[in-house]
Amino acid sequence: MKAYDVVVIGAGPGGYVAAIRCAQLGLKTACIDAWRTPRGEPALGGTCLNVGCIPSKALLDSSHHYSTLKQLLPQHGITVSDPHIDITAMQARKDGVVERLTSGIATLFRKHKVTWLAGKGGLAGEQRVAVTQPGDNASEVIAAKDIIIATGSVPLELPAMPVDHTFIVDSSGALAFQSVPPRLGIIGAGVIGLELGSVWNRLGSEVVLLEALEQFLPAVDRQVAQEAHKSLKGQGLDIRLDARVTSARANHGEVTVEYVHQNEAHSINVDKLIVAVGRSAFTQGLNLETVGLELDDRGRIIVDDGCRTNVPGIHAIGDVVRGPMLAHKASEEGIAVAERIAGQAGHVDYGIIPWVIYTHPEIAWVGKTQAEVESAGRPYRTGSFRLSGLGRAHAAGETQGLVKIIADARTDTIEGVHIFGAHASELIAEAVTAMAFHASAEDLARIVHAHPTLAEAIHEAALDVDERALHR
Ligand code: FAD
Ligand code: AMP
Repeated sequence: MKAYDVVVIGAGPGGYVAAIRCAQLGLKTACIDAWRTPRGEPALGGTCLNVGCIPSKALLDSSHHYSTLKQLLPQHGITVSDPHIDITAMQARKDGVVERLTSGIATLFRKHKVTWLAGKGGLAGEQRVAVTQPGDNASEVIAAKDIIIATGSVPLELPAMPVDHTFIVDSSGALAFQSVPPRLGIIGAGVIGLELGSVWNRLGSEVVLLEALEQFLPAVDRQVAQEAHKSLKGQGLDIRLDARVTSARANHGEVTVEYVHQNEAHSINVDKLIVAVGRSAFTQGLNLETVGLELDDRGRIIVDDGCRTNVPGIHAIGDVVRGPMLAHKASEEGIAVAERIAGQAGHVDYGIIPWVIYTHPEIAWVGKTQAEVESAGRPYRTGSFRLSGLGRAHAAGETQGLVKIIADARTDTIEGVHIFGAHASELIAEAVTAMAFHASAEDLARIVHAHPTLAEAIHEAALDVDERALHR
């Protein structure tokens, strides 16, 4: 029997990063992954690289270029006659990006001497993992001193709106449309619904998003969420809140979606429907019962703050455990677990995990919202600054949005930073760094920011916490 120090099950951003870190620390490591491309070939990278973060950003960038060409460039004095889109070429580019990055992980595995086992992994008793090839009944059992489960998540399916992969699709299907659906319905105006809605809206679909909640993006600071809501509606996204979908059925080449709004029944007909109602932890086929591994009421593997399960030597990370379903959260947990296995401290600062929604402008935040600080009963001060106050924003034609900082009124420590604006995904990194070092708003206010940049909005918002912003 082959024996390893660590066997990682799943090669998404949680598992593959954990495997590389284990190998860096001198642990003999194997990583098992069951993913197959549409051509049936094994691929590393999990949801994130194959059908998540990367392909969605590739299409968001392509569609953003198209909308920039039509809407922003004429303001710069640049006009192009008869621009048109070639979805086949756009999809081929996206597939190429995915292929480049997933094969890049295989190269990293070779470099770090991580053994890649393409197949399905299941627990086969303590310190034993069975690896099964697709279509094979026999499996190979390997031994591991430590096991890291990183099997991720899959789209949540609701029986009332069954995915048929043709008319009613999940996020993976929506990333593979080969033509622009004239009428597109989306159930769920969360992160995934908004990003996919933006892609197809920019390319020409009439998009209706049906969202059960009354509040738009409840996890986002209210001021930022309201501005984003207004801006996205202005772009043509028809976001209907308090609209709970009760059923969706495809017939005669279209989808009829029934929903309840303010206790009244409504329905719409669309050409395609994306079900984006969330994701659920994936543990199928892991044979958790063989070792008595415990799940919570949402099917996630129960772990402590250090990603330890109830079974010694078995760890779980990423989307399959509690916490935000984000690639960087999965990776950081992978690193921390690898370091703990190697006898180091291993640590994830869960309080400062950044969130990004890649609409245009982007929405990004870290730490607490104003409402959260308020309900905790702590005195606080806020500072904000609009991008329209910045020279660089005017030069770029990107004046929409704002930066908002919430700081403790007694200590001035930054509690949260919320950004709605172009490049918010990049700008938020400064806020995360500041918070990681427990910076005060005054610290940020005293740091030199290059001029002209969008990052000056962070500087000005920090100054505004002390009511001394210079350009407002
Ligand atoms: P996964 O990436 O889901 O990987 C799990 C892997 O385990 C898969 O390859 C799976 O095949 C494999 N596996 C499962 N069971 C077994 C088994 N028994 N044996 C072997 N292998 C198995 N997050 C961000 O941070 N930023 C974004 O911009 C972003 N955009 C997204 C866009 C979309 C459309 C979607 C769907 C998700 C997006 N996410 C984003 C979320 C992100 O993809 C996940 O949080 C991340 O992939 C979780 O990583 P993971 O390693 O836990 O699991
Ligand atoms: P997220 O959790 O960011 O993936 O977003 C999923 C969204 O789908 C949430 O905002 C849910 O409120 C929403 N949702 C879930 N079920 C329904 C439904 N039946 N009708 C409309 N929206 C829904």
